[in-house]
Amino acid sequence: MAGLQFSRIRIGEGHDTHRTISGRPLMIGGVQITDADFGLDGHSDADVLLHAIIDALLGATGQGDIGEWFPNTSEQWKDADSAKMLLAVIHSVRDRDWRIVNLDCTIHAERPRMEAWKPVIRSRLAGLLDVPLDSVNVKAKSGEKVGPVGRGESISADVVVLISGL
Ligand SMILES: [Zn+2]
Repeated sequence: MAGLQFSRIRIGEGHDTHRTISGRPLMIGGVQITDADFGLDGHSDADVLLHAIIDALLGATGQGDIGEWFPNTSEQWKDADSAKMLLAVIHSVRDRDWRIVNLDCTIHAERPRMEAWKPVIRSRLAGLLDVPLDSVNVKAKSGEKVGPVGRGESISADVVVLISGL
């Protein structure tokens, strides 16, 4: 009987938090959440979920963190579209002969209600990552009215990604 074959696999996790502020569009997972009357504060477009995905991918491939790649002192990334940042990281993941197996994401937001946005974000992420829809899962939780998330002061995201060698 053949021995159990383990393919070359790695896991990565990412977490991000941004403060809510008025006067900016709310971007989550590369999607503009149009029923929010606030956005997130940050140097780039502050897309909390894309930032967590970037950190998960950098973690899985041993490439540091988002702050090293996209310094918040750099004019280049001021108000930047985080999807462009993610695409640069995906390029580097592929260059190293890794492919994404699956991605599991959790958004922590008290408002707006994310229920209707989950499939939209999921589809956008599958497109950005160029993976099948069932390789991406998007979960959402409220903050149960406690803590910074529950009081609507911030939105957070957690991501776990599995990658496999080609
Ligand atoms: Zn961020």
